[in-house]
Amino acid sequence: MNPAFSNTAATDKAVLRRYLDLPQPDDKVMATYIWIDGTGENLRAKTRTLDQEPKSPKELPWWNFDGSSTGQAEGSNSDIYLKPVAIYKDPFMLGRNKLVMCETYKYNKEPTATNKRLSCEEAMNAAHSEHPWFGLEQEYTLLDRDGWPFGWPKGGFPHPQGPYYCGVGACQALGRDIVEAHYKACLYAGINISGTNAEVMPAQWEYQVGPCEGIEAGDQLWLSRYLLLRIAEEFGVQVSFNPKPIPGDWNGAGCHTNFSTLAMREPNGIEAIDEAISRLKARHKTHIAMYGKGNERRLTGRHETASINQFNAGIANRGASIRIPRQVGEDKCGYLEDRRPASNCDPYAVTDIIVRTICLKEKD
Ligand code: ADP
Ligand code: MN
Ligand code: MN
Ligand code: MN
Ligand code: MN
Repeated sequence: MNPAFSNTAATDKAVLRRYLDLPQPDDKVMATYIWIDGTGENLRAKTRTLDQEPKSPKELPWWNFDGSSTGQAEGSNSDIYLKPVAIYKDPFMLGRNKLVMCETYKYNKEPTATNKRLSCEEAMNAAHSEHPWFGLEQEYTLLDRDGWPFGWPKGGFPHPQGPYYCGVGACQALGRDIVEAHYKACLYAGINISGTNAEVMPAQWEYQVGPCEGIEAGDQLWLSRYLLLRIAEEFGVQVSFNPKPIPGDWNGAGCHTNFSTLAMREPNGIEAIDEAISRLKARHKTHIAMYGKGNERRLTGRHETASINQFNAGIANRGASIRIPRQVGEDKCGYLEDRRPASNCDPYAVTDIIVRTICLKEKD
């Protein structure tokens, strides 16, 4: 625990409201540029004023930042470029103000090491005719400022897992305010959020984004993470995407990735699903390398996971690498669920490798 962050310093939100309610000049728009930093997991953002409302990312200027402060460049040659790639409505500043997802490029216009979007977009373009859809189940854990899960007894543990999954009640659902605020903010911003639920470990939650086609899955999931971090920040709560935040008999956090192509969604699509599974099986290790850091602490073969060292698939099997949902088995078409990605994965890297393996038929 870092004592510097166990403080309770807070500003008065009622005072803030007076200023947020000030009218904004008609010819001014605030645009918050958001990017993935050198960790490949954390987000950074900074805001600028535009003279008119952008309708597409192409209307937005490239910008730059100090990459030596984000683990993305040397101090002597520190400028990193920001390329706007997707625009959303800003649920914090409202009006015509925007949130802008960006890619990062080095001084020589090569993508930075943590820019996984460029390769992803190339794969999505190549597989465009197959209409790849993704549904991402983002799990996360709320933490108090001292790093201990939100609402857990200090210096101790809550009752064992059991009552918390989809739980209701003061001692079952820890942090629901943040979950509900985030849901509304996602809808407002234009994120295709499809649901939310409390998870098996108390203070752990999930929301789903999708189905989204192609590159939008990664764009929307990253933007939804930004919204979650910002909203939790307002409540003085931390969000952890650690795949196993508490060791022992507490569930880890994943980012199950549901996937389908047009062929899988059509009658007898189960044949395309089976073929996809055999392609995934042949590239298990390559996929695992793309599925998030520390995932070996989560994929133990316990707590509704498969072992990181083994590939297996099954209908309705939550201990499998790949699960075919029960309904999909009955309908003989639909989608598959890749249960391996960790909560801290980069969805650009995950959706990229899935499309390359299944649609573009890449092999090791
Ligand atoms: P689980 O039963 O594993 O908890 P969820 O309901 O949490 O599943 O998430 C399933 C996700 O899959 C949702 O985001 C949903 O929109 C998405 N999904 C549904 N149909 C498809 C499809 N054909 N292709 C890809 N994703 C899909
Ligand atoms: Mn400065
Ligand atoms: Mn789910
Ligand atoms: Mn879940
Ligand atoms: Mn799932």
